Amino acid sequence: MSPRKGGKRRVLVTAGPTRERIDPVRYLSNDSSGKMGFAIAAAAVAAGHEVTLIAGPVVLETPKGVKRIDVESAREMLAEMRSAFPECDTLFMAAAVCDFRPARRLRGKWRKKDVGQERASLELIPNPDILGSITRRKGDRLVVGFALETSDGLRRATEKLERKRMDYVVLNGPSALNAAKTSVKILGRDGSQRDLVGRTKSAVAKVLVGLSAPSAD
Ligand code: C5P
Repeated sequence: MSPRKGGKRRVLVTAGPTRERIDPVRYLSNDSSGKMGFAIAAAAVAAGHEVTLIAGPVVLETPKGVKRIDVESAREMLAEMRSAFPECDTLFMAAAVCDFRPARRLRGKWRKKDVGQERASLELIPNPDILGSITRRKGDRLVVGFALETSDGLRRATEKLERKRMDYVVLNGPSALNAAKTSVKILGRDGSQRDLVGRTKSAVAKVLVGLSAPSAD
């Protein structure tokens, strides 16, 4: 398979946060707006590729020509990824997946009177690492992931690049969340590093869609 040599690619993109239910009206989530992933999907369609977008709960319009699958939780995203990943040749994993979810989802509302008067605690269990698990069967797909770090970014992002078998990791900071402009470092598994400073998410997306596989190591 050599789908990336100039031709039309089958691009899979994930975007937005996941939402982990506590009870019928409450959940854990994060500030991801989905803008980066949606910009990648739009840039990939504009470049002539076939695009599937797996989106967490966001309030964004689907870019024209994109096949969109909506999910809520990390486990739902993993299930959709398991069927979509084998069909793609390029993955952009831009979703901000919640690392933990409540150990139990209550059927009724969590009421103050059910817990102590002054404090309540919520037991959390880890969510599956979607990227780390699906890239066990990566093949020759191009895989680009993200790392949002608040400190020691280069070291942490490089560690994730290797552990999750990515070709590139896009390192950014919390100011990227829900913002129109962003600054990122694109680190390749070949040791390459490219800085994009104060760019619109569409401009960053265009660069990402133009990436090709780092040279073999
Ligand atoms: O959250 P973390 O910094 O580990 O995310 C790094 C990459 O792994 C991102 O591309 C994110 O979408 C992905 N990820 C995942 N499943 C998780 C957590 C993160 O696929 N449970």
